[in-house]
Amino acid sequence: MENWRSILEGQLQNFPPELSVEDAAEIYSNAPLNDLMFVAMERRRTQVPGKLVTYMIDRNINYTNVCTINCHFCSFYRTPGHKESYTQNVDQISERIVELERLGGCRILMQGGVNPSLPIEWYTELLEELSKRHPGISLDCFSPIEIEGIAEVSGLSTIEVLSRFRDSGLHGLPGGGAEMLVDSVRHGISPRKGSAENWLRVMSEAQSLGLITSATNVFGFGESHSERVEHMARIRSLQGEAALSGNPGFTSFVSWPVMLENNAFGKIGLRRNSSGLGASAVEYLRHVAVSRIFLHNVDHIQASWPTMGLEVAQIALSGGADDIGSTMMEENVVSASGTKKTMASVAELKETILQSGFVPALRDSEYNILEVTEVELNPLQV
Ligand code: SF4
Repeated sequence: MENWRSILEGQLQNFPPELSVEDAAEIYSNAPLNDLMFVAMERRRTQVPGKLVTYMIDRNINYTNVCTINCHFCSFYRTPGHKESYTQNVDQISERIVELERLGGCRILMQGGVNPSLPIEWYTELLEELSKRHPGISLDCFSPIEIEGIAEVSGLSTIEVLSRFRDSGLHGLPGGGAEMLVDSVRHGISPRKGSAENWLRVMSEAQSLGLITSATNVFGFGESHSERVEHMARIRSLQGEAALSGNPGFTSFVSWPVMLENNAFGKIGLRRNSSGLGASAVEYLRHVAVSRIFLHNVDHIQASWPTMGLEVAQIALSGGADDIGSTMMEENVVSASGTKKTMASVAELKETILQSGFVPALRDSEYNILEVTEVELNPLQV
């Protein structure tokens, strides 16, 4: 029997063994897509039973594009003093949240660059003011590299920064900046971003303070399937530690291939040791399915429509994903690299879920269900 077949069969047992990195890389590389998606769906049924697929109404806010980190794949940032650089003030940010409130949204995802001119008080005052003006909105803000940058500017430790932010109204830390948590890959694409260990440590600190966190993964930099699974292994391991400590772990895992259109990849010497740069729809679907099978302790796997489009995201719902993400309303980081669609309406997200045979359910950022769409399921879907 082929190796991939026996591994997948093992994963269909009632209490399947934890998948090793080697076995996950084997099924990633060699199992037929159909088999991978089938096993991923079986795992999805165990981890997230039922027919609901969740979505959220939220807004991305990129409060500053000033950044000193210079990731090779990033077309969004501008260096300090650049004529196109910007930093939004509290009123501009608040105005965007008012628009979100009108649509019934409940969360902002606010991230920017590592801006060395902003002192810690700029952030704490912003969080306090936004909490006061918008008490119904969860403030999920800043990625680990921003927290590290603020710690450096302020002379505090990262956990002290996080603690002050939590006391000022921070609800959660989005998983931005993880990209590939494999240092050999990471150093090639973001030499100044810091090690995988740093990202994991800041996330662990956030979780120890009760902040809500999610895990992300940008892939397609020329890394091998084993390296992609290695990234997932680091997420799985931290999730295990969070469970042992009684901390809230990652709510979800969301992955997408790097967008290449507008950046300077051709000019840098990235390794091309497996599937080239970026990822096709099929490669993306394999990645989602493997992440569902491998990450047995992360409940929610998200399909990424902004990079793959709504149609591919719809297929991912039949291959392990149980969430289609959010409306976003505005996106400047991925879109700077060439993606065309930067927001989706509630109607589009619901229609995508319905067309895949599931029931749309509105959620908040902690995956609490807020509203389930009334749908008549046909007998084949029940
Ligand atoms: S990805 Fe983030 S950290 Fe890297 S250059 Fe862009 S804004 Fe800066």
